[in-house]
Amino acid sequence: MTSKHRNVIHYRRAKPSMPHCAVCRSELQGISKKGGKSRRTTNRLFGGTLCANCTAKIIELGNRVEQGEIKLDEIGIRQRVFVLQRMSH
Ligand SMILES: [Zn+2]
Repeated sequence: MTSKHRNVIHYRRAKPSMPHCAVCRSELQGISKKGGKSRRTTNRLFGGTLCANCTAKIIELGNRVEQGEIKLDEIGIRQRVFVLQRMSH
């Protein structure tokens, strides 16, 4: 069917939401949606993925696992993946 009055439904793109921490879901700070990649992420381990608190926590947990103080399965699953990443760096 051809018509000048075609009804086209436009779906609005979802508003870009602030990135959230993968562990505690809080909004990540220091991230701008403008500019290039370097402005959109934080130049830190897990920048753009974890908040500063959780990054510190992950590093601490990783160290404790390496020291044998705790076992990997004592760490929550969300944190564990990052501890593993951290330890493989
Ligand atoms: Zn967090």
